[in-house]
Amino acid sequence: MLLAAAALWPLGACPAWAAPVFSAPILAYHRFDPLKAGPTTVRDSTFLAQLDWLDRRHYAVTPLRTLVDQLSGRAPPPSGPEAAITVDDGHVSVFTDLFPIIRWRRIPVTLFIYPSAISNAPYALTWAQLREMQASGLVDVQSHTYWHPNFRTEKKRRTAADYAAFVDLQLTRSKSVLEARLGRPVTLLAWPYGIVDPELEAAARRAGYAAGFDFAGGQAKPAADLLSTPRIPIGDGDRGPALAAALGAPSRAMRP
Ligand SMILES: [Zn+2]
Repeated sequence: MLLAAAALWPLGACPAWAAPVFSAPILAYHRFDPLKAGPTTVRDSTFLAQLDWLDRRHYAVTPLRTLVDQLSGRAPPPSGPEAAITVDDGHVSVFTDLFPIIRWRRIPVTLFIYPSAISNAPYALTWAQLREMQASGLVDVQSHTYWHPNFRTEKKRRTAADYAAFVDLQLTRSKSVLEARLGRPVTLLAWPYGIVDPELEAAARRAGYAAGFDFAGGQAKPAADLLSTPRIPIGDGDRGPALAAALGAPSRAMRP
């Protein structure tokens, strides 16, 4: 076990306590609704059933930031099964549907937000709602770039220099606006559409992000570099055996 753990870490980066190998599912949600499911919309009753499922299997739902510390070796590994819950895009149903549930059940959640939409797009959360949720101590607000571009499309239609500047702006402006508006450090990034490559990872590192998340599926494992850490997209059909398969599956198709 000790040798296997040491093999995960580049020379000199192995933490003093020599982490045993562990993995944890990071669940990725988008929208919630009281009655109607959709491709990226989970019904409130389904979300509650999913929380119950995790509870019955003794998963501790931990803040993503804590899990990142464990994955990077800055904190000791968890003593039992652990999962993290993330929600992308800042849809208003995060406030109307998700927030009452997590406040009642005391579940920590990380929101990945693109600030250009906040208090702006009709479907989006407001800054006041984000502040109220953050004040509960259960909600951590992190970056989903500034306006949620498709980096693959942008790369095709821009010159190399223009594209590099565009990427830097999307990563740094989101971080600085969220930090200024909400007064908390922003070091985690969800890649829009799950699109990430080594160039984007390098830009995120330069911008000061400690971890980045895609939709590659499978459980997150300890690594020296966490800038393309997999998450598992969760839908309304993921109940019971389907949820077990989703969380345990080695890979899943990307959902936007
Ligand atoms: Zn998104």
